[in-house]
Amino acid sequence: MSSQNPVFIPGPTNIPESLRRACDIPTMDHRSAAFPEILHPALAGVKRVLKSTEADVFIFPATGTAGWEAAITNTLSPGDTVLAARNGMFSHKWIDMCHRHGLKVQQIDVAWGDGLPVDAFAEALAADTDFKIKAVLATHNETATGVVSDVAGVRRALDAANHPALFFVDGVSSIGSMNFEFDAWGVDIAVTGSQKGFMLPAGLAIIGVSPKAMAAIEGAELPRTFLDIRDMKKGYEANAYPYTPSVGLLNGLKTSCDMIEAEGLENVFARHARIAEGVRAAVAAWGMELCATSPELYSNTVTAIRTPDGFDAGRIVSHASTRYGVAFGAGLGDVAGKVFRIGHLGMMTDVMALSGIATAEMVMADLGLPITLGAGVAAAQQVYRQAAATAAMAA
Ligand code: PLP
Repeated sequence: MSSQNPVFIPGPTNIPESLRRACDIPTMDHRSAAFPEILHPALAGVKRVLKSTEADVFIFPATGTAGWEAAITNTLSPGDTVLAARNGMFSHKWIDMCHRHGLKVQQIDVAWGDGLPVDAFAEALAADTDFKIKAVLATHNETATGVVSDVAGVRRALDAANHPALFFVDGVSSIGSMNFEFDAWGVDIAVTGSQKGFMLPAGLAIIGVSPKAMAAIEGAELPRTFLDIRDMKKGYEANAYPYTPSVGLLNGLKTSCDMIEAEGLENVFARHARIAEGVRAAVAAWGMELCATSPELYSNTVTAIRTPDGFDAGRIVSHASTRYGVAFGAGLGDVAGKVFRIGHLGMMTDVMALSGIATAEMVMADLGLPITLGAGVAAAQQVYRQAAATAAMAA
C-alpha cells in the first residue's frame, strides 16, 4: 500500500490535486483542434518560467536525461570538445553521456559539496584561444549534494574570454523553484523535466533553446531522431507532434504554469527559500553538517546532510521508509552512505516541511544518533513563525 505521507525526495515531488486532475483527462485526438489549445499555452508558460522572451521551448515525452541528450546531439558533432565540471552525480552523468556520444570532455574535477568553479572555467576558456571548446555544460543545482552554482558567473567567464561556445545549463532541480534567468544569463539550452518544479509526474523532458543554439542545429552531425529539434519545430508549426505526445502531461504542464504564475514566480522562489532555511536551521540544531561547503551554495530545493563518520546514511532512508512510510533521498555516487537528502521542492509548505523534519528526528533517534527530539522542529518553527509574522505585518 502506498503511504499517504508527503515525500521528501528531491523529485518526483508531491503533486497538487489540481495537477493530478489536469493530467487525468480523457483520450484526445492529438491531431484535433483541441491539442494546440494545450500545447501552445504550455510552451508559452515554460518560456515565462524561464524568464525568456527569446527561447524556443521543446517538450519531449521523456525525462530530464533526454533533455541533456537533446542539447548535445542537436548542436554538436563527433569529436567536438565540451567543458564541464564534475561536482556531483548529475554533472557526472551528463559528462558520461558526452563521452558515450564521442565528444571530448575537458573535465574540471571539483569536490562534491563545492559549486561550479567559475575561476577554473574562466581560465580554461581564456586559454582556449582557437575555440576548440564548442559547449560549456553547467549543472545549476546539483541535486546529489544540495549545491546551487553561479550560472551567471559562468556566463561572465564566457563573455570575458569572448568565447563563442554554446552554454548549456541543467536546471532540472532548479527551474520553477529557484530563480533561473535564461535570457539574462545568456543560456543557450536549459534542460528540465516535469517532475520537479512543475510538480507533475515524470514523463516530460523540457528544454529552452536560444536562437544561437537553433542556428547550430543544421551543422550538428551527432545522430538524433526521436530528439531531433527540427522535427519537433516543424510539428509545432503545424500544431502537432512528430509522434504521439503525452497529452495528459502537457495539460498538466499548462495548468502547472498557471498555478506557478498565480502564486507569482518570485513568491514561489521565496517560499522555497524560506522552507529551505527552516530545514537548514533544523540541521544546525541537530549539530550536523551540510554537504554544501558554504552558504552561497545552499540549495533551496534539496538539503544534503552529512551523517557522522562510520554511520551509513542509507539506514536513515530505509528506516524512514519501512517504519514511518516517509521517503527521503539517499546519497548518490561519491557521497553514497555519507549523506541523506531532504527534498523540499515543488508542492511543499512550511507545515509539510515540519512533518519531514519531525520524521527525520524520530528516525535518527531510533537509530541511536544523538538527536534531541524536537530540537530541529523547534528551530524550523522559529524560522517559519518569524517569516509568517513578518508577512502578516507587511500585509
Ligand atoms: N539533472 C539533475 C540535476 C537531476 O536532479 C536529475 C534527476 O534527478 C537529472 C538531471 C535527470 O533527470 P531525469 O531523472 O528526469 O532523467
